[in-house]
Amino acid sequence: MPATGIERRNKNYINYIGGKWTDAASGRSFPVHNPATGEELAAVPDAGRQDAARAIEAAHHAFPGWSGMAAPERARLLLRARDLMLERKEALAHTLTSEQGKPLTEARAEIEYAAGFVTWFAEEGKRVYGETIPASAAHKRLLVIKQPVGVVAAITPWNFPAAMVTRKIAPALAVGCTVVLKPAEQTPLTAIGLFQIFEEVGFPAGAVNLITTLDPAEVGREVLENPLVSMIAFTGSTEVGKLLMRGSADQVKRISLELGGHAPFIVFEDADVDKAVAGAIASKFRNMGQTCICANRIYVHESVLESFTEKFVERVKRLKMGNGLEEGVHVGPLIDEQGFKKVSAHVEDAVAKGAKILTGGRSRTDGIFEGGHFFEPTVLTDVQKGMRILEEETFGPIAPVIPFRDETEVIRAANDSRSGLAAYFYSQNMSRCLRVAEQLEYGIIGVNDAVPAVPQAPFGGVKESGLGREGGRQGIDEFLEVKAISFGL
Ligand code: NAP
Repeated sequence: MPATGIERRNKNYINYIGGKWTDAASGRSFPVHNPATGEELAAVPDAGRQDAARAIEAAHHAFPGWSGMAAPERARLLLRARDLMLERKEALAHTLTSEQGKPLTEARAEIEYAAGFVTWFAEEGKRVYGETIPASAAHKRLLVIKQPVGVVAAITPWNFPAAMVTRKIAPALAVGCTVVLKPAEQTPLTAIGLFQIFEEVGFPAGAVNLITTLDPAEVGREVLENPLVSMIAFTGSTEVGKLLMRGSADQVKRISLELGGHAPFIVFEDADVDKAVAGAIASKFRNMGQTCICANRIYVHESVLESFTEKFVERVKRLKMGNGLEEGVHVGPLIDEQGFKKVSAHVEDAVAKGAKILTGGRSRTDGIFEGGHFFEPTVLTDVQKGMRILEEETFGPIAPVIPFRDETEVIRAANDSRSGLAAYFYSQNMSRCLRVAEQLEYGIIGVNDAVPAVPQAPFGGVKESGLGREGGRQGIDEFLEVKAISFGL
C-alpha cells in the first residue's frame, strides 16, 4: 500500500479504487473517533464527487470481466474472503468496537454474522436459476434468464459497520455485479479492514471499490446522476432513504432501501415472563439500543405487568455500562453527540409529559465515562400517546413499558406507526402466535424470539421502513435483472 501525503496516525487508512489504495483527489481527510473516549483513532480520505466518479468508472470497467466469470469461481473468492474475516475476527472486532462502541462480545458476533452473509450468498450465487416456458406457437421457444444489474452503489450506516457491508456486497458480487461502497463517516475503519481482505484474496481490480467521505450529499449526487450506476443499495435513516428514492427517479435506477424502525414488543398474559424479560433485554439494549430492529415500545398485558416490570428493571439495573473494549461491559456509549441529544430529548419530553423513570434516566460524564456519549439504560412507565418516544425511533437505551388490556387493542397500537420493520411478541398460545404474527404490519416478526435476523432469512420492512429484502433467498434477487428470450426456430 502506498504512503500518502495526508496526515494520519495510520497511513493504511485510505480508499480503494480500481484495485489501488488512494487518497481523496482533494488531499483532504477527516478524523475517526472512539465514541467511548473521544480519542482520535485515525484519519481517512474525505472523498468528493470526482473520487466517486472514479470509483464508479472503475466498477464499470470491471463489470464485463467479473460478471463473465463462472459463478463457482466468484464463490471461491468470496469464501476465501469469509475465511480471512473469521481468521481476523479478533482484530476486526477490536477495530469495530473502537470506532463504534459496542461491547467486544457483540463486535465478535457481528463479524461472524457478517461472514455468514458471505457464506450464504457465495452459495446462493451458484443457484441463480432461469426457466423455460411453453411457447404459444410450435416453432417458438421461451427462455428466462437472470443477469446482474451492473454497478451497485452501496451506502451503509454506522450501527453494524461490518454486517451491513457484507449484506450488500456479498450478494452483489456473488451474482456478478461490481460495487462502490460508501460506509458511514463514523465507522469507515471496519470497512477498510474488510477491503484489505478483498485485496488479499484477489478480487479483480475495480470489482469492489471503497470511498470514505464527510460529504455524503456530494457523493450521493454523483451516485444518483452518474448513468453508470445501475442500482443503489441503501441502509440508513428513512429521511435519507426517501431522498435517494426521489433522486433515483430521474434515471429510474433500481433501489433497495433498509430504513428505520420503531419496533413494538408485546408480552401477552400467556407469555413465559422470564423469557420475555430476557428477550426485552436482548432486543432493547443490544448495541445500546442502536439497532433498526430494537424494541422501541414494550406493551405488557396488565395481568403480568407487575411481575414483568419488576424483573425487567432488576435486569436493567445489572447492565454494566462502559468502554466496549473492556470485557464484562454489557452496554457501550451512544455513537455521537447527535444520537446522545436525541435520546436525552426523548427522555426529557416523556418526563415533561408525565412519564416516570423506574431506573436510569441520566447522562454520564463522570470518571470512566469522561469524553464519551453515555446515557444510562432507562425504564419509563406512565408513557402516553403524544410523547416523542412512542412516535419516533429513539435509537438509544430507553425502554418505555406500556400496559394493555386485550389483543385487539394492542395490535391496533402496535400497527399505529409509519414504520414496519420488526415486531416481537411473547405468548405460549399457538393459535394466538399465528393470528398475531399475521396481523402485525411488519416485515420481520420475532415470536418468543428477540434475535430474528440471520443470513438465510429475508430482512426488510414494509410501510416507510423500506423496499426490498436483504439476506435470504430473496436477497439475491435485488441484484438481478430478469430477461425473457423468445426463439423462433
Ligand atoms: P443515515 O444518516 O441515513 O446514514 C446512512 C448512510 O447514508 C451513511 O453512510 C450516510 O453518510 C449516508 N448519507 C447521509 N446523507 C446522504 C445523502 N444525502 N446522500 C447519500 N448518502 C447519504 O443513517 P445512520 O444514522 O447512519 O443510521 C441509522 C439509521 O439507519 C436508523 O434509522 C436505523 O434504523 C437505520 N438502519 C436500518 C437498518 C435496516 O436494515 N433497515 C439497519 C441498520 C440501520 P454519513 O455517515 O457521512 O452521514
